[in-house]
Amino acid sequence: MSKLTLNGATFTSQPNETVLDTLLRENIQIPNGCRQGICQSCLMRSVDVPPPVSAQVGLNQTQQKQNYFHACVCYPEQDMMLALLESEQTIFITARVIQKQLLTVDIVRVVVECDTELTFFAGQFVNLLRDDGLTRSYSIANRPQADNRLEFHIRRLPNGQFSNWVHDELVVGSTLTLSEPKGSCHYLSGSEAQPLLLIGTGSGLAPLCGIISDALEQSHSGDIHLFHGSSHHKGLYLVDEMRELATKHTNFYYTPCLSGDNVIADTVQGRAHDVALSTIENLKGWRVYLCGHPDMVNHSKRLAYLKGASIKDIYADAFHVISPDTK
Ligand SMILES: Cc1cc2nc3c(=O)[nH]c(=O)nc-3n(C[C@H](O)[C@H](O)[C@H](O)COP(=O)(O)OP(=O)(O)OC[C@H]3O[C@@H](n4cnc5c(N)ncnc54)[C@H](O)[C@@H]3O)c2cc1C
Repeated sequence: MSKLTLNGATFTSQPNETVLDTLLRENIQIPNGCRQGICQSCLMRSVDVPPPVSAQVGLNQTQQKQNYFHACVCYPEQDMMLALLESEQTIFITARVIQKQLLTVDIVRVVVECDTELTFFAGQFVNLLRDDGLTRSYSIANRPQADNRLEFHIRRLPNGQFSNWVHDELVVGSTLTLSEPKGSCHYLSGSEAQPLLLIGTGSGLAPLCGIISDALEQSHSGDIHLFHGSSHHKGLYLVDEMRELATKHTNFYYTPCLSGDNVIADTVQGRAHDVALSTIENLKGWRVYLCGHPDMVNHSKRLAYLKGASIKDIYADAFHVISPDTK
């Protein structure tokens, strides 16, 4: 058990408890979102001792040297003096919803227009904040353009607090607060001839849409293979748009995959990652993007590596599942 000191008050962490869990248990309001050390909503600083290295994964070198860490994955190893991130260091943007459209029975496209200019890479994500502070991460589905618009594909989850609010209550004209764009799962210019493999399940297609349109816009000359999976054909979306892109660009290949029994024409039976990784024999020299369910992402990461992809060329966004007992 370690003692955590924040603003002059001291709290004792319980075994197997993260810094975030200790503070929330003590009714200290700490912003938080993904709970897997990605979204940076709960970023804090240790004023005295270095935090555990595992709580600093994904932070840049300056942040690491300044003892910043993700409170949600920090299991304290000693007593720590904590500081909250000064509010001026967290940049928030206001945006207005300008379009809302169902893409499938449970995935809605939301387009927002930001009040200020936004710099981002296709495939990054932002944290969306509701007025009461509830925060969730959503991937940007479009490429950067001059119009300051961002598109999101948000899947409704049974009992999902944020996703149900988006589906049921957010309307055209509503305003939303956004964090600055984050994440390293994005298109990189500079290796235009490198073949790209993109695998997504459900709304995991969102960041892949942005990456594909950016790659094509930047005249990526290497082959681009997209495998999008769902259990049911009604869960596949933007099928016509992807087919049209494949007709227009001879280096873009699109394979819609259905893991259920009910396979329809022009789709392939099987889970997207199984189909993709059995179709492409050798991934040496490829760049791989994996987005969607954490099990698919983690499993495919390992298989892509075993098929020859270099670890530095595998980019992934697991749409984390927060277990009810850690909420
Ligand atoms: C980097 C990143 C990018 C993301 N991008 C997108 C995106 O583009 N589109 C999108 O729809 N989602 C995306 N997500 C997931 C999103 O942030 C939320 O986790 C999701 O919308 C659930 O929030 P909720 O408040 O509705 O559900 P909660 O109230 O948090 O959870 C309700 C129930 O659903 C379960 N649950 C939580 N998350 C998931 C999940 N992803 N799949 C299945 N069950 C779950 C929980 O265990 C709980 O039982 C992303 C996540 C991350 C970390």
